[in-house]
Amino acid sequence: MSGLVNREFVRESARDIPVIANVDVAVLGGGPAGFNAAVAAARLGVSTIMIEKNGYMGGVATAGLVSIWHSLYSMDRKRKIIGGIVDDVLARLEERSAVYGQGDFYTESKGSFVVDTEAAKLVFDQLALEAGVKLLFHTYVVDVIGTMGEIQAVIVENKSGRGAIKAKIFIDCTGDGDVAYRAGASYEKGDLSGLMQPPGLCVRVGGLNPSAFKSFESGAVSKALDKEMDYNGQIYPSFLWYTKSGYRPDEIMMAAARMTNTDCSVGEQFSQASVDGRLQIDWIVRTLKNEVPGFEDAHIVDIAAEVGARETRRFLGDYVLTEEDLLTGRGFSDVIGHGTYPVDIHNPVGRGIIFKHLNGVVVTHDETGNVTTSMWTADGNKSDVQYYNMPYRVLLPRDMSNLMVAGRCVSMTHEALGAIRVMVNCMQLGQAAGVGAAISCLTQKIPRDVEVGSVQAELVNLGLEL
Ligand SMILES: Cc1cc2nc3c(=O)[nH]c(=O)nc-3n(C[C@H](O)[C@H](O)[C@H](O)COP(=O)(O)OP(=O)(O)OC[C@H]3O[C@@H](n4cnc5c(N)ncnc54)[C@H](O)[C@@H]3O)c2cc1C
Repeated sequence: MSGLVNREFVRESARDIPVIANVDVAVLGGGPAGFNAAVAAARLGVSTIMIEKNGYMGGVATAGLVSIWHSLYSMDRKRKIIGGIVDDVLARLEERSAVYGQGDFYTESKGSFVVDTEAAKLVFDQLALEAGVKLLFHTYVVDVIGTMGEIQAVIVENKSGRGAIKAKIFIDCTGDGDVAYRAGASYEKGDLSGLMQPPGLCVRVGGLNPSAFKSFESGAVSKALDKEMDYNGQIYPSFLWYTKSGYRPDEIMMAAARMTNTDCSVGEQFSQASVDGRLQIDWIVRTLKNEVPGFEDAHIVDIAAEVGARETRRFLGDYVLTEEDLLTGRGFSDVIGHGTYPVDIHNPVGRGIIFKHLNGVVVTHDETGNVTTSMWTADGNKSDVQYYNMPYRVLLPRDMSNLMVAGRCVSMTHEALGAIRVMVNCMQLGQAAGVGAAISCLTQKIPRDVEVGSVQAELVNLGLEL
């Protein structure tokens, strides 16, 4: 074999594929968006199947080891703006003592909080089964059958071979929008040059002694990593952050590796990112162990099963959400969720990150590690926008009739994705898509034609304040 280039082709024979499920709603991908979509749809009494390539739900929130969920409250922390199924997840996690604050417990601080990614797998299963979702794990969605913007079936592949799943409504929650892509829906990728935020690989590290935390605070960790990596000679490209473990004082989860210039929707690049991510993690842990106080006995506990993609395809929908919509808190009559997470863009090609907060403040970490603060507001004053709004129309790919998208592939600009991509936002998008799909089945209308007021009313029933 001369490498994975598309110069040669073979022809697949036509064959009949067994229909292994025929349901009202098929949710493809079970990450934060997919889990919420499936539960929301099933709770409204429509038959729902959830197809997931891993053996558990959660996506980046479990397989990717990412444990920080962001605030459910407005910027002034006075109003709860995010709710619904996420509240049920948190209540179950609390019962297991598996959610905790970085400083204060999340209900007191109303800020970001940390979730035990293993307990999350159990809670996602529980809630989905209680809602009556049929779960099909270890199953990859590989193709779509349909015409003229209407999907008849998705083709899946697992240990049993190929199977077809028929549904009235399909919700693509694969992160990369694999289903919408195969259905031919229009999409964009990256910034004006096509560059995408880099993926990352997270790791749990144990064996730290308390002085390791002082080393983070004093900058000793960043200083030790501010150099060429020994495995490829490139300067370490990451913006490193960590969370403490709720169970073991000597353990942390580090979002440490960043694989620049990578498009995770390209098979070979996604594979290469896994290798590069592990090489980076190996170098990071060895460097910290050898050079930084507190890390002398550090060891890798667990490398995330999967590279986490921050950005790939964004499907053009009935509305394209922009950075301006978010930062100015634009109102939409078809609002289905809110958020406060800033526009957060990791440099696609090197070090550096920029945060544009709703309160007007911009924090820029440049390529050399310098941090500067400025304002994005025209008058340079603080903004009192309390939260942003996400409209139903971002879930509706404009050239499709019975396909919805939810999660980080909805209709928005590259900049808006910087904010919308976080888990509490993706969960709300999934929840709204699930409700929209269920109402679509119950009223025999396509999702675009359902009464948005009825979707909003069901979201309020689930616990979301609109
Ligand atoms: C390194 C990193 C750090 C981050 N840090 C934070 C953070 O601190 N807080 C935060 O809130 N967010 C964070 N994010 C962002 C957030 O985790 C993701 O944007 C979010 O998980 C996206 O949710 P999703 O459901 O759209 O997609 P995903 O979480 O990617 O889920 C997609 C699911 O679909 C499945 N799937 C994909 N393709 C197929 C297929 N063809 N067939 C079947 N199944 C398929 C996947 O296995 C997965 O389970 C981070 C992301 C990364 C990469």
